[in-house]
Amino acid sequence: MSKYWSPAISQLTPYVPGEQPKVDNLIKLNTNENPYPPSPKVAEAINHYPKERLRLYCDPDATALKQSLATHFELPYNNIFVGNGSDEVLALAFMAFFRQDKPLLLPETTYSFYDVYCHLYDIDYRQIPLSDDFKIDLSLYDQPNGGIIFANPNAPTGRLTPLAAIEALLQKNTESLVIIDEAYIDFGGESAVELSRRYDNVLIIQTFSKSRSLAGLRIGFALGHEDLIAGLERVKNSFNSYPLDSIAITGAVAALEDVEYFNETTQKIIDCREWTSEALTQLGFDVIPSKTNFVFTRHASLSGADLMQYLRSNNLLVRHFSKPGIENYLRITIGTQQEMTTLIDTLKQHPSL
Ligand SMILES: *Cc1c(COP(=O)(O)O)cnc(C)c1O
Repeated sequence: MSKYWSPAISQLTPYVPGEQPKVDNLIKLNTNENPYPPSPKVAEAINHYPKERLRLYCDPDATALKQSLATHFELPYNNIFVGNGSDEVLALAFMAFFRQDKPLLLPETTYSFYDVYCHLYDIDYRQIPLSDDFKIDLSLYDQPNGGIIFANPNAPTGRLTPLAAIEALLQKNTESLVIIDEAYIDFGGESAVELSRRYDNVLIIQTFSKSRSLAGLRIGFALGHEDLIAGLERVKNSFNSYPLDSIAITGAVAALEDVEYFNETTQKIIDCREWTSEALTQLGFDVIPSKTNFVFTRHASLSGADLMQYLRSNNLLVRHFSKPGIENYLRITIGTQQEMTTLIDTLKQHPSL
């Protein structure tokens, strides 16, 4: 606290990212990073980048990356926006679209950055409860609003909302924008990109951090109607003209082009998720059906906080949220098969399991 902080800053409760431990011997299953390295083509492209060019500013429009994304998604170039991680794209989108007279609607349990942005921008918001089995019931969003946002699949629950329900929402909710955060869509979900071709009230946000193993390079993007993209560009160019550096642009293009590697690594994670879910179920855990690279799970008789501590003392790091209603759940990232075998073996050695 400092007397020099503005009143608004003094009131903020910032987002707390999962721990990035400084020691190497931990199995890190707490921030949904991909256990596999990025495509070897990424390293190759970055190594070949002419370093003397770092003297120059990078391309403020990240043209090469937007063109690659346009080709990949078969969308026009001006339906694409890129930013420094999807967190930045989300931050710009909240600023561009959600500062309205009516409240933003979002699930009660979802990515905890959303309400942080609401406080930062002074956006009024209303949290809509999930169903008992953690489903998002989009019929509850049929009420006056200044915008709607949810993650699909949702975080930290891992549950997928079907496209038909999303389309029904877009048909009803014509006076405000719906943003769908598809950070985990590549692990078995069906993207709403198709809907963005037919509806101008939906914006899709995705990231290279999870399915493309590039959390450290910071690349996120949005797909939607050109007028929505133009709104994002207005905010971006009022804030930071160069959010993606030259190395990031180069690496991202290489990652996107290596479709084979992408398919192979995402499939390995999907298969290992199914194996892990089954093994946890056999140990007496409730596992919410996941279409992501993590599982959200609780044990009927053990507290989430105690389990997290037990795993931590065995060098396994998982994420626990002390929020009421989900305080007994753990969010466990899917690592390699070997890492998940270690997790299950460690749980089997728990005195009460
Ligand atoms: C990981 C995550 C993000 C942020 O991804 P970055 O692109 O690394 O900023 C956004 N939304 C959800 C739901 C996430 O889980």
